[in-house]
Amino acid sequence: MNTLDLIIIGGGPIGIACGLEAQKKGLTYLILEKGPIVNSLFNYPVNMQFFSSSDKLEINEIPFISNEAKPRRSEALEYYRRIVTSNKLNINLFEKVENINSANDIFTVISSKKTYTATNVVIATGFYDIPNTMNVPGEDLDKVKHYYNDPHFYAQQKIAVIGASNSAIDAALECYRKGADVSLIIRGDEIGQRVKYWVRPDIVNRIEEGSIKAYYNATIKEIESDKVIINTPEGEVTLDNDYVLALIGYKPNFSFLEKLGIELSDDEKRLPNYDPDTMETNVSNLYLAGVICGGMETHKWFIENSRVHAQMIVKSILEKK
Ligand code: FAD
Repeated sequence: MNTLDLIIIGGGPIGIACGLEAQKKGLTYLILEKGPIVNSLFNYPVNMQFFSSSDKLEINEIPFISNEAKPRRSEALEYYRRIVTSNKLNINLFEKVENINSANDIFTVISSKKTYTATNVVIATGFYDIPNTMNVPGEDLDKVKHYYNDPHFYAQQKIAVIGASNSAIDAALECYRKGADVSLIIRGDEIGQRVKYWVRPDIVNRIEEGSIKAYYNATIKEIESDKVIINTPEGEVTLDNDYVLALIGYKPNFSFLEKLGIELSDDEKRLPNYDPDTMETNVSNLYLAGVICGGMETHKWFIENSRVHAQMIVKSILEKK
């Protein structure tokens, strides 16, 4: 078994950027991805439009050409897939990393299919695998979804969308336009300020005209098979309901990081310990890349500001070599 210079866990945009940079600089590397290429993007809503313009999503200065300034999911899939195929990146798909051990400066990476060794490991596993939960009775019913895909499914259905950020607002508007009866349950007192600037007026107007009913300062009390009960400042409200879309964000796999010995801050942010100049964690030769770096602050890192991690990590590895 040849020991590689680098194993990258996660074949999202940033894991791919790391692989490309390693290849350019002559390092031996392998990307291990538990799903298809850019699995998180593949699982985004079918009609999703990025808030970043396509140039901000480019890796390694490879031009990303899209129809509109801000690309759609399908264009991003096309872009990142072509980067992988045309550069013949070393990536194994549908191969999940289950454990990593280290001894004598060598990491042993155990996947669902094989065991590998490497002198450096990059964790670029993102945050899209574990949804935040509400911890209310009925949340485990099949009708409660933490991922939203296609509005067609919800035509003529009574849906409660929980959340007020981009994912929730996109879902509420799309489902309303396909004939769903939409209620928005919002914990705060307004639509999130980070909602895409061209979408925010649309949802505000739909709420004002009464097409979508919004409940502010409201939380879910309980979900039943045909209704949801919410707490509002005016008291308890019961809504007839077919589906609940709980789009309240996602979080990194903290237990995986802790198992590897990466320290996390003990406040609610759970920020991992890494050197911001090299991206190396408190565990020698173990690096973090991409949005996972933000801990619970999942709005801090994006593709556009974390793509640079690839160059930082490869530079650090080369300097040590
Ligand atoms: P990810 O893309 O999440 O990649 C992580 C990969 O790791 C996944 O493919 C996953 O399958 C894999 N993985 C996880 N665990 C394992 C394991 N144990 N073994 C093997 N593989 C594993 N960012 C922007 O810059 N601009 C935008 O406009 C934008 N819009 C967004 C819209 C939505 C709806 C969401 C949810 C996010 C958006 N983001 C945007 C954030 C952006 O998607 C992420 O920044 C981007 O996906 C991060 O890339 P990443 O490579 O760090 O993580």
